[in-house]
Amino acid sequence: MEKILEIKDLHVSFQTYGGKVQAVRGVHLDVHKGETLAIVGESGCGKSVTANSIMKLIPSPPGTIERGSITFKGRDITRLSDKEVRAIRGVDISMIFQDPMTALNPTLTIGTQLTEGIKQHQRLSQAEAKKKATEMLNLVGIPSPEERLKQYPHQFSGGMRQRIVIAMALICEPELLIADEPTTALDVTIQAQILKLFDRIQQETGVSIILITHDLGVVAKIADRIAVMYAGKIIEVGTRREIFYQAQHPYTQGLLHSVPRLDQKTDKLVPIDGTPPDLFAPPEGCPFTARCPLAMEVCGKVYPFHADLSHTHAVECWLQDERAKQHLAT
Ligand code: SF4
Ligand code: MG
Repeated sequence: MEKILEIKDLHVSFQTYGGKVQAVRGVHLDVHKGETLAIVGESGCGKSVTANSIMKLIPSPPGTIERGSITFKGRDITRLSDKEVRAIRGVDISMIFQDPMTALNPTLTIGTQLTEGIKQHQRLSQAEAKKKATEMLNLVGIPSPEERLKQYPHQFSGGMRQRIVIAMALICEPELLIADEPTTALDVTIQAQILKLFDRIQQETGVSIILITHDLGVVAKIADRIAVMYAGKIIEVGTRREIFYQAQHPYTQGLLHSVPRLDQKTDKLVPIDGTPPDLFAPPEGCPFTARCPLAMEVCGKVYPFHADLSHTHAVECWLQDERAKQHLAT
């Protein structure tokens, strides 16, 4: 599979009054052409920081990309100037955020907002840009696009606004779309429609999607591969099938048990006890030790090795390592 993005050993920290927070601590991740890769984890696990690093949207100060590389089309984004990154942002890589209202300007028509970017980047005439905007509204399923272009954001429902934001993100035909909790602010029915829309767009355009979410239900519907993050690290990665049916990391297993299922009453959900570790002073060993029902002595002392279980499935947990038992014995 062709890789379009390659993240290697990414470390990102934030300087705060309380000290330095190590938000991302050695992330390795590839994105393949035409796939949907979900990054899943609780809030504060580093998933949004990872996504924002790809767009070089880490405010500095207080944020710093301390180490690592993010390679897109042969170039390391972390080393590009702001000007070079601006040429990529919205054109080759686009991003969609949780709240569509913050992405739309309430004082400008949808038509103006849709055509602004593309006129700038592709030097289209007004008529060409308008044609493209109409096509985009069609693509995201907004009826009577020609009339709708003249309207303002407040004249659309929440779900429609999110569709417009998606159209804006796609108008320059990016190769990679990063969606950070794109359905969290929407009600369940609209959520399902937006997820279907992502699926259809991917089939029609071949765009790769990174989907950031805390919601495994969302992931189950559209992800090809899933990376599970915990305390700034990717602790398990695999295909959707590997993660949903063969999860090996106790944290992934815990997350799966805390997802509501249609055949379960919600009061049977088992949330994971405890809270993630403090990332001012992250533990040296496995960060899940304090919450893990299977923790061994070695877990709190040494970070587990990376274990490849298949060419798509990898996990970082001492349970995969025979040597853990030797450590136990000594
Ligand atoms: Fe649990 Fe140890 Fe595996 Fe961490 S390394 S998840 S503490 S068994
Ligand atoms: Mg987030």
